[in-house]
Amino acid sequence: MINFVTTYPNVALTKVCESIDFTLDVAKDYLPILRDNIVDTILGNYALGVASPQIGVNLRAFGVLKDPEISKTPTKDDIQVYYNPEVILVSPSKEDALEGCLSFPGVSLLVTRPLSVTLRYYDIEGTEQVETAYGLKARAIQHEMDHLDGVLFIDRVSTLKKRFALKELAKHSKKKGHKMLNTMRQAYARAMQLQQQ
Ligand SMILES: [Zn+2]
Repeated sequence: MINFVTTYPNVALTKVCESIDFTLDVAKDYLPILRDNIVDTILGNYALGVASPQIGVNLRAFGVLKDPEISKTPTKDDIQVYYNPEVILVSPSKEDALEGCLSFPGVSLLVTRPLSVTLRYYDIEGTEQVETAYGLKARAIQHEMDHLDGVLFIDRVSTLKKRFALKELAKHSKKKGHKMLNTMRQAYARAMQLQQQ
């Protein structure tokens, strides 16, 4: 199901998320639902990634495209979901690149981040995995990891840039009525396409 994406300044976006307890029976039942909601919300919004607090779930999980640099339209199989992820290493070299966030419609910001990141996480079966990601994927992972700690991309830039971003967001929200409808239409059309696959 494509979920409604929480936008700034909703308080859900600034909370630290809880770890998932894989030993609970309820986790076994709920994790596939959470995975599907993350996957559908990414595909329905043409996003690179989505973190659970953005869809109103206060748990440590997020999804990103396995290869965000591919040009074909992604499908469910192109998305990787990480549970209880933890950054264990980042590269000393950093780069600046533009980022967007579904919770900040209409805003893009130049954010400095390490070029590569190694993380330990659990897959949906609760098995520990380690991955090193580079480039755009490393950036997407770091952006989504931040969401799990209530950190937003506006917190990664100067006060001046943050002020500018919030103005852009306000401008965008004023036009929301009409934009929102278009976004919903796109999401609906995308959901229909997914059902047919
Ligand atoms: Zn985001």
